[in-house]
Amino acid sequence: MTPLRLYCPKCGYDRSGLAESPCPECGCRLSPVDVMGPTSSVPPTIQFACAIAIFLLPALLFLGSALLAFLEGS
Ligand SMILES: [Zn+2]
Repeated sequence: MTPLRLYCPKCGYDRSGLAESPCPECGCRLSPVDVMGPTSSVPPTIQFACAIAIFLLPALLFLGSALLAFLEGS
């Protein structure tokens, strides 16, 4: 999972990891998360689906090969 780049909504300072604290550059207290949240490039549902696919695909492949091995062995 790549960390989301968060920039100060006022001066553009990279505030990744500092979202909850004031901007060290301009003192702006606006949270980049509040500003960027709804307009994030990837919808949360897509991110969730990708996470599910990434975790489930290897499991399904493993179960499939295990099932095949079991069927061939019997
Ligand atoms: Zn700033």
